[in-house]
Amino acid sequence: MMRLPIAITVAVVVCAVEVALSGYQNDPKRGQSQLQARAPEPPMAGIHWARGRAPARPRGGSPNLTYHGGPVMRQGAYVEPIYWGARWSNSSFAGDKISGLLSFYSGFGRSDYDATNTEYTDSSGHVGSAVAVGVTHTDLSAAPSNGNRTAPILAEVCSTASSLVTNGYYPVYVDTPRGHAGFCAWHSVGTCSNGTTVQFAFFFNLDGDAGCDPEDSSGRHSQGMAGLANVSGHELSEALTDPHLNAWYDANGQENADKCAWAFGTPLLTFANGSQWKIQGNWSNAAFNGGTGYPNSSGQKGCIDGGNFK
Ligand SMILES: [Zn+2]
Repeated sequence: MMRLPIAITVAVVVCAVEVALSGYQNDPKRGQSQLQARAPEPPMAGIHWARGRAPARPRGGSPNLTYHGGPVMRQGAYVEPIYWGARWSNSSFAGDKISGLLSFYSGFGRSDYDATNTEYTDSSGHVGSAVAVGVTHTDLSAAPSNGNRTAPILAEVCSTASSLVTNGYYPVYVDTPRGHAGFCAWHSVGTCSNGTTVQFAFFFNLDGDAGCDPEDSSGRHSQGMAGLANVSGHELSEALTDPHLNAWYDANGQENADKCAWAFGTPLLTFANGSQWKIQGNWSNAAFNGGTGYPNSSGQKGCIDGGNFK
């Protein structure tokens, strides 16, 4: 009896994400054929919309996340960052981004910010708080000119990563700017030809991109690095709590970071290795129920960031 409603809910969530995305292509027919052509591709989720670009969400009902039966990342995550595109060989383009993201992922695990994800569970336990960082990869071949498809990103992950593991999370940073895309980043899940199912994510280059800029005024990072850090926190948080896109999201398909996008509670968060970052918080059902969170862009007080809001 329970299975049918759950299956329908999942289908609606996936469609909503796809249609919202194709709406930015200004050509409904092209969007439709793309949807059909990429039917075998993994769906996108946790799309980090640029400021002001998130689709309107219907109001009403509980804003809390609900559990849809799938796994969470109980072992935490094993991360191999991948930098894709010829510009990554240019030191003035790369700047502090590769070293900064290594520091970001190295300090993420067991930080108070990471702990904003651990209230969520599957049938075997909570989201894990360990984050291990493996080899950093640079692929100087041409990266896709847009972020509209998941399959090329999954293929890059499967062919580039040193260690493909089921608790792996492979963030792919391309050197191409966002252009007119409405989103800064997304995450997904897919299976490589060796049979391993992995989590992966896509990130535009955010240099000079006001629509994806957290406006970190700390002076600790370049603007482009600060932009990537904020969206990287968003996507890894969603991968931890909804790795297969069938665990924790709300009635509108929004995952824990989606619900607090572009809402900041603490000016600067300190990670386990002492590095400091300006990152949006994540939705906490417990904080919303207890009235202890800070408000998201809809005024719902369910966001925590591990800084002033735990
Ligand atoms: Zn998201």
